[in-house]
Amino acid sequence: MLIKLFKFIAIAVLVLVLILGINTWRNSSKQLVVPVLPELKVDTNLVSEHLAGAVRPRTVFSFLSEDQGAAEFQKLHRHLETSFPNLHRVLKREVVNGQGLLYTWIGKDAKAKPILLLAHQDVVPIAPGTETLWQQPPFDGVRKDGFVWGRGAWDNKSNLISQMEAVEMLIASGFQPERTVYLALTHDEEVTRHDAQSMSELLAARGIKLDLVLDEGLMVTQGVVPGVEQSVAMIGVAEKGYLTLEFKAVALPGHSSMPPATGTSAIGQLTRAMDRLEHQPFPASVSGVGRQMLETLAPEMSGFGRVALSNLWLFEPLVRRQLEASGGSSNAMLRTTTALTIIHAGNKENVLPGVAEATVNFRLMPGDTSESVIARVKQIIANEAIEVKMVPNNSDPSPVMSADSPAFMALNRTVREIFPGTLVAPGLMVAATDSRRFVDVSEHIFKFSPVRAAKEDLPRFHGTNERISEANLAEMVRFYHRFLSVTVGPVAGK
Ligand SMILES: [Zn+2]
Repeated sequence: MLIKLFKFIAIAVLVLVLILGINTWRNSSKQLVVPVLPELKVDTNLVSEHLAGAVRPRTVFSFLSEDQGAAEFQKLHRHLETSFPNLHRVLKREVVNGQGLLYTWIGKDAKAKPILLLAHQDVVPIAPGTETLWQQPPFDGVRKDGFVWGRGAWDNKSNLISQMEAVEMLIASGFQPERTVYLALTHDEEVTRHDAQSMSELLAARGIKLDLVLDEGLMVTQGVVPGVEQSVAMIGVAEKGYLTLEFKAVALPGHSSMPPATGTSAIGQLTRAMDRLEHQPFPASVSGVGRQMLETLAPEMSGFGRVALSNLWLFEPLVRRQLEASGGSSNAMLRTTTALTIIHAGNKENVLPGVAEATVNFRLMPGDTSESVIARVKQIIANEAIEVKMVPNNSDPSPVMSADSPAFMALNRTVREIFPGTLVAPGLMVAATDSRRFVDVSEHIFKFSPVRAAKEDLPRFHGTNERISEANLAEMVRFYHRFLSVTVGPVAGK
């Protein structure tokens, strides 16, 4: 009997190992094989000067100033006009909402669907108190040690300048696009995103459907994906949703010498609700875009990682626990996240406040909605006396774009050509971009910046000592030049 059982177990283990092995072996590389391209000659010094000049105008969009810094945006516009004369001679320029710019490069084939490249002109302000931590002043446009330094050098004037530089070079070489290309330069991306909405509506009113929208997003990272040695370019195919909720607990104000019954103070009710929210996160799963990404990268890994990611049917719980434990962006890829960001209550040590308020920011996974999150939140805090209110400017998660479309493939191919040896995989953007406003005019919206970023560079984004390497800037120009040549050139347009 016992021998029979051992035999059975041995056979079962053998079969399992065989299945795992076959799945791992069958999950072969999904990376496109591309021929080596001759490197396009880019005037790195010139493009670096153009970027440095674009960093100098302090294009911080602000509700506080009535004209929202119009003069600074105007300075940037003049800089673009002088830097890119061919572009300004050939492309049509429309002003949207005062400082937003929509450029149209009309294609020869009126029937071919146009494409649109997005880049925002505005930058985030310098966090008060961090000014002195900058190695170079943030708005001087300093070039030093092979980098262009300053606020916006990376986010997002690098994309803006390299896109324009590529168009300028193409025009100079006599290139004419088969299909129309739009360059959408918004000026309120970090704040309201009205420009993107207006531009999208403008195109919709003209009956235009876009074959592709490309916006800033995921990047070419090195050492960020555990178990993968090569650099990895993730192309964002979806964006998480954004929801902020305000919580308000009220109680009778009174003197601290006579506190109310346990658990009924405004602060007590509110902090208990917040504690519950933090300790009962939304469920995590390795599914959707995250799963697609892992399965795409699995064949490039070695050892157990490759086996586990090629057999998620069995190892999903293990992989999920590991990703959850890594925290940060790995955890954010798995679930709708809950972030406690503001809390206010009380102003005197011997007075019980009548009101306690807190703000919580959620980033929603595709599949969740504001309604589903609010319903779950109310269930978790389990206190109907606490008022839950939505803060305006929410958005549900974007639709998930197909990673099999010709538009995605064109991006994928260009990355493989310009960044040799880099792995490409679809990815989920955990932050929000302008491109989400274009869902009514395109079914192919992708979020990718041809920017190289190592782990230690990530804090520079919206942070201190923002910079971009001049060598990378040249690669960015090559990327857009190649991408435009292929997607709107004579072959692709036919
Ligand atoms: Zn940005």
